[in-house]
Amino acid sequence: MPLYNLNAVVIKSQNLGEADKVLTFYSHERGKLRAVARGARRPRNRLRAGTEVFTHGSYLLFANQGLDTVSQCEIVESFRGLRENLERAAAGTYCLEVLDRLTEEEEPRGDLFPFLLAALHLLAEGSDLELAVRAFEVGILSRLGYAPELTACVSCGAPLKEEAAFSAALGGALCPKCRAADGQAIPVRGGTLAALRYLARAPLSRLGLLRLPADSRAELREITRACLLTQLGRDLNSAAFLTLVQEGR
Ligand SMILES: [Zn+2]
Repeated sequence: MPLYNLNAVVIKSQNLGEADKVLTFYSHERGKLRAVARGARRPRNRLRAGTEVFTHGSYLLFANQGLDTVSQCEIVESFRGLRENLERAAAGTYCLEVLDRLTEEEEPRGDLFPFLLAALHLLAEGSDLELAVRAFEVGILSRLGYAPELTACVSCGAPLKEEAAFSAALGGALCPKCRAADGQAIPVRGGTLAALRYLARAPLSRLGLLRLPADSRAELREITRACLLTQLGRDLNSAAFLTLVQEGR
């Protein structure tokens, strides 16, 4: 079966040689997968438009010994909104890097592909980009099994009240008595914990119902960054650019 179909989003593109691209797809069928698109950087190449980052398409691939090659593509959605606005592009690039860094090749997860498509729609068209990015971070962490404990103290199991702290290293929230268990723990309001619980389980289409004050947004940003750093070991390349774009608006 040398030819196969892929319902996928292009999450990364690297130049290869004079006119080729090495693409990283996130697909419904096979999860993350890399493939070569021969000639895709030539102006009139038929693969050109369908191999742009953010594109959702139906791809026909040819299996090879090394990297598979893209033989045909049909664009389902090009997500132009993500290319035409700098802040949306920065947010989208950041989210795709989070996805790329947190996933391994050929490990499909049924719920991750529809979540990615919903997130791209939200990032391309939604009105609250910052919250969309937070929802993507929390949603992907929980879908991959890295969800922090948010209902009871991760150290003693006591129910959490208004005063709490968040420890990325211990994987959840700490009650005031256990706070000293992690010197790096981030102080967090009850409302922020509730928002985190909502983001971990609510569909992205219901994000508009969440109203968050600026201080809770800052706490959320700090918490998701700490969680990603714990999982990945280092900051994401596109994180600094996203911060720069968002602070400059
Ligand atoms: Zn405790």
